[in-house]
Amino acid sequence: MKKICILFIMLLLTISTAFALSKPRWDVRPVKVYIPPNHYYTHLMKNAFLQWQDKTKSAVWFVFVNENKQKDAHITVHFVEKNVNCEKENAIGCTHIQTNDEDFYVHNDIYIASKTTRNKIGKNGKPEKIEVPISSEQVYRVMLHEIGHAIGIHGHSLNPNSIMYAYSNNNDNNPQTITEEDIQFMHNVYR
Ligand SMILES: [Zn+2]
Repeated sequence: MKKICILFIMLLLTISTAFALSKPRWDVRPVKVYIPPNHYYTHLMKNAFLQWQDKTKSAVWFVFVNENKQKDAHITVHFVEKNVNCEKENAIGCTHIQTNDEDFYVHNDIYIASKTTRNKIGKNGKPEKIEVPISSEQVYRVMLHEIGHAIGIHGHSLNPNSIMYAYSNNNDNNPQTITEEDIQFMHNVYR
């Protein structure tokens, strides 16, 4: 019985260590960010990074690099018409993450689309996909969400009011925001 208890405790310790270590994060500061210039999303994206920086400045902060330093960027933003790079075909944004053995980020890519598709029943009664534009308010929230993934929040919040909730609530009257909980999570990641 004693042996089983010890084994059980050891197993618990192993599991909790695994969780504790599984916190992808940056070990460089500032994090260099490349945002394609002269796009109608450029300014919005920059603001989204600055909002995260403002809320978490003691944890992670950024510098924006221009085109000739693009290869030095730690996070590269891509503006695309439709997000063929994402797992879900109607996703507005997604983030591809590369980490090393120590769980530090190596390079992250954020993809932001200007159009998404929605399923609709067509005139012939068959389902069809229609392209729908995305409001700048909604795309800004997606930008904040994807940056959250690119700087240390691997999973999703269970709070529907959080910007890190798995789904966009698409409610401009009650928009999802970076919550105190999200900020605390970031500080824990970089503690
Ligand atoms: Zn997400």
